[in-house]
Amino acid sequence: MTQILKGRPVTKEIYSKIRTEIDNNSLNPKLVILIAGEDPAAKYYVQNLEKRGSKVGILVQTIEFTSDVSQQKLVEEITKCNQDENIHGIMIQKPLPSHIDESEITLIIDPQKDMDAFHPSNIGNMVLDHQSYIPSTPAAVLELIKYYQIKTSGKHVVVLGRSNIVGKPMANLLLRKNETGNATVTICHSRTMDLPSITRQADILIAAIGQPLFVTENMLKDGVIILDVGVNQVEDADKGMRYVGDVDYDGCFEKADMITPVPGGVGTVTTAMLLHNVLLSVKKSAPKGKFN
Ligand code: NDP
Repeated sequence: MTQILKGRPVTKEIYSKIRTEIDNNSLNPKLVILIAGEDPAAKYYVQNLEKRGSKVGILVQTIEFTSDVSQQKLVEEITKCNQDENIHGIMIQKPLPSHIDESEITLIIDPQKDMDAFHPSNIGNMVLDHQSYIPSTPAAVLELIKYYQIKTSGKHVVVLGRSNIVGKPMANLLLRKNETGNATVTICHSRTMDLPSITRQADILIAAIGQPLFVTENMLKDGVIILDVGVNQVEDADKGMRYVGDVDYDGCFEKADMITPVPGGVGTVTTAMLLHNVLLSVKKSAPKGKFN
């Protein structure tokens, strides 16, 4: 019987832990999200974060800009947030307008408030296995691995995708010498030759390529565990449109021992892990000795 790895029970636990820590320690965490433009999916995600935040006791404030916002204006706003002691987390909602230099934006965020964990200092700490924030999507995959007691040690994990926000950090985290690591990791990307011959070797397959229903049943071995990060909008004859993953869920279901649904899998947990980073930040900012 294939087990469906739903995100909801995982988030229930995470949100409950966040709420308890905030209440027990009378913390007042605040996250500021900067968003530019009118992307409906981005706006929906931000609204969801605001709602989730308020349920667990994190104030989420969104600062909206029009799509013609200048680089300087964004830099000024981030600088203000960096200096404001009442703000514990800053998140830049993607996509940013094409004229904005994203790498400069990433660099000026105070690494202590960098909730996406994209600052080179946070990435470096993560790779070196030092204490740091972890980007929320790979963190969500690790939470699913933990919650559903998936053994990674010695397993061959194939990660599809090498982006800085998912694929690369994911692969690094799976190499850690801990309970969700110790895996043998292969990363594949658009230039990988004969990709199915590699995916067929996977004990665990993590798909993050942004290609709807790309992974098909003939690319898998029996008993594979599938964690599908992909979120793709496709046309649907009945509903107009719907979301699907990078994996052909229905076609691959029988062959897999475990599989995450899309929606309702990794994405659900991602939001929780972002808010968890805000909790870590407010704790770091507390007077010395309180939490460490
Ligand atoms: P990017 O577009 O930044 O990266 C995609 C990666 O996939 C690249 O490394 C690319 O290779 C590789 N790739 C693309 N096409 C193929 C192919 N045909 N065969 C092999 N590799 C391929 O995407 P992201 O990492 O930002 O996102 C990946 C997916 O995850 C998307 O569907 C996105 O919506 C979703 N996502 C979901 C989140 C969640 O919380 N669930 C959060 C973030 C993203 P190359 O480097 O060679 O170009």
